[in-house]
Amino acid sequence: MSNQFAEHEARLRSGFIQRQHNLFIDGKWTDALGQGRTDVIEPATGRTLTTVAAGSAEDIDRAVLAADKAFKGGWSTMPAAARTRRLLALADAIERNVDELATLESIDGGNPVTHTRYGDIARAIDVLRHSTGWIDKVGGDVPMSDSRPGALSFSLRQPIGVVGAITPWNASFLLAMFKIGPALAAGCTMVLKPAGLAPLTALRLAELMVEADIPPGVFNVVTGEGGVAGRALARHAGVAKIAFTGSTDTGKSLLVDASGTLKRVTLELGGKSPVFIFPDADIEAATNAVSSGIFFKTGQFCAAGTRLFVHERVYDQVVEGFEARARSVKIGAPLSPDTEMGPLISEGQRKRVLEYIAAGKREGAEVVTGGRAIDGPGYFIEPTLLANTRRDMSVVREEIFGPVLCVSKFSDNDLDALPEMANDSEYGLAAAIWTRDLGHAHRLAQTIDAGIIEINGGDLGALPFGGFKQSGIGYELGKAGIEAYTETKAIGIKY
Ligand code: ADP
Repeated sequence: MSNQFAEHEARLRSGFIQRQHNLFIDGKWTDALGQGRTDVIEPATGRTLTTVAAGSAEDIDRAVLAADKAFKGGWSTMPAAARTRRLLALADAIERNVDELATLESIDGGNPVTHTRYGDIARAIDVLRHSTGWIDKVGGDVPMSDSRPGALSFSLRQPIGVVGAITPWNASFLLAMFKIGPALAAGCTMVLKPAGLAPLTALRLAELMVEADIPPGVFNVVTGEGGVAGRALARHAGVAKIAFTGSTDTGKSLLVDASGTLKRVTLELGGKSPVFIFPDADIEAATNAVSSGIFFKTGQFCAAGTRLFVHERVYDQVVEGFEARARSVKIGAPLSPDTEMGPLISEGQRKRVLEYIAAGKREGAEVVTGGRAIDGPGYFIEPTLLANTRRDMSVVREEIFGPVLCVSKFSDNDLDALPEMANDSEYGLAAAIWTRDLGHAHRLAQTIDAGIIEINGGDLGALPFGGFKQSGIGYELGKAGIEAYTETKAIGIKY
């Protein structure tokens, strides 16, 4: 184990993790009004790491009041340069603590530390700086036709108000930052309800907010159960917008709760993303990418490519390549720098994934590799490839959120049917295409109903991230991501 992470691990386990974790409201740590606490379990060992406060509806109420006070008390009207300076100071504070945050995220969420360090946390810093860059660039319009002697009509954008952010456990810090960056940049204030399964980096972030001099009340954290604290946030009349990442089912119930006060919503939900590999592709690169995509976060990733369609001419080569990668992938302790795949988040999640695999087998799928839990402590599982899958199987239709890939074959006769195969899903989050014929790739990309399409492993940078169909509503990041935290006001003046 590299010293950099080992030292942080020792300090975190005897220090931060053991603390009495309370709620962060109005710039201060405060006890939850109820007595309840929730255990935080370490996915790699199954042991209890610590407990966090179980926030109640009354706690949400206190946090929303603090956020509202901060919104009206200066954050929303702060000069752009001053808000920019503070958010860049926050990015610097996170960067100074990047190794520690990555270690904490890996202990808490189970993802390999090289991924959290060089992926999630590094990316979160970029997202915050990217969002900050929009502060003085997002605005309204003055149409030429509406500015004439004696009259001026223009639109302006203003921050929407208090935002309730509800986040999942698979990329706790990064997905919180997808909301914090644009919301705070736009001049909104926030109450964050992190996932109970991995809440610790959100609490550490609250300390960094203080260090970076973010004014009290601008950012508040209330830990607690989704059905209690999360619902209270979704229903609260003082919350103008809910920004949520999580499962499609929870997103739907949240939409109902948010409808009571017609809140604005951004929902980033599930996916069942198709991957197409054509015979002219760089097959080795494609196979590696598909394999790594399944090992990544142990398949607990909404945009994971889980429905693989391979041309018959390269099918055996891709399947054999995946098998070889699955056999050699380093599964193990999240804090070991050579680990490529960690455990699933919980026993419940592992049970769910194993049940899906069993259902697939019952319905006629062939387990090419994997399919079993790995003995020992923690919630480890083998990466799994299922062949002979059909469109009607639950493993093909539903989001499993585990390292399970369903593969099927297509031939030249099926080329016209590929868009229909891709779109035969209630989801529409992502898709990947592997071919050297970019014209062909682009034509296919245009027909796929998905918010994110990667061609030959292309990078999406800071483009808006969001899904079609039941994968979500709205977009995060980019210009659209900032605008989602604003309201538009049209003003007409006669003079
Ligand atoms: P997952 O299935 O990935 O755990 P969920 O969608 O259940 O995802 O959870 C994502 C986030 O939503 C978590 O912070 C969770 O506590 C919260 N949550 C769960 N149920 C509700 C609900 N009914 N209302 C609001 N938030 C909820």
